[in-house]
Amino acid sequence: MPLVSSKELLEYAQQAHFAVGAFNADSMEMLQAVVEVAEEERAPVIVQVSEPTIRYAGLALPAGMVKIAAAEVDVPVVLHLDHGTSLEQNAHALRAGFTSLMIDGSRLPYDDNVAVTRQVVQMAHAAGIPVEAELGKVLGQGVSPNEVRAAMTDPEQAAEFVRAAGCDSLAIAVGSIHAMTGREAELDVDRVQAIARCVRLPLVLHGSSGVKHESVIAAIAYGVCKVNVATYLRQGFMDVLRAEMAACPDEVDFRKLFAPAREAAKERVREKIRLFGASGRIDGHGGFRSPPTLRRSPH
Ligand SMILES: [Zn+2]
Repeated sequence: MPLVSSKELLEYAQQAHFAVGAFNADSMEMLQAVVEVAEEERAPVIVQVSEPTIRYAGLALPAGMVKIAAAEVDVPVVLHLDHGTSLEQNAHALRAGFTSLMIDGSRLPYDDNVAVTRQVVQMAHAAGIPVEAELGKVLGQGVSPNEVRAAMTDPEQAAEFVRAAGCDSLAIAVGSIHAMTGREAELDVDRVQAIARCVRLPLVLHGSSGVKHESVIAAIAYGVCKVNVATYLRQGFMDVLRAEMAACPDEVDFRKLFAPAREAAKERVREKIRLFGASGRIDGHGGFRSPPTLRRSPH
């Protein structure tokens, strides 16, 4: 299928109470792992490209690969810019055919975050492309619990922010940390619920690799519709790659070592897609299955 926009997809996920997996495609192998499993699971998927990957591979090559991979499957695939850094970078992504953008102004003072998000939204909406923004800060490794708490998203400020900035989805800080290699973080799910009540847009969870499964499931129940996963897939890939290299130290055909590593990444993508409730959402023609109708209470 041609690439699809994240707008209708996240609205569908919001209605049907599941989350779309958003996986970083840092290499051809990771992209193949994500798209192949999405098709096997009949799940929609978001493939995202982040700033470190743009520095590593440029914007055009990953974008071209994702378009081709999407065309080869019959489930919806979104090409998303992860943590866009500026208006200019978002403009480049728009020209390269991205079907979903992000501007991360969360490190800026509040008013500057609103201003830069508004600029990106105006540009993107003119082209019919939705924008994710971030309020509160999802921090990196090595921060204290107090720092994580202090950086969390305030529900009322979030409501004011989305009104002023006009974004289509919102990344929130509710206790997760980027690039965690263990899985011990718990989310402030009451805060997720409070934000969902105030904001009413699809909410996005970053840094999910280090979060306990129960917490992720609760966050999805309360309104998270997109969950980003990167580190957990890289770990699965690298564990197998290291073992293959140790077992075959003289092998020069790296494809022989990458193939089993890609299989390991596939199984981790599958585990996450199922955890998020995204399996089986797409029918045989690439359309959304209608959300289960709510059973009326007998009382
Ligand atoms: Zn992130």
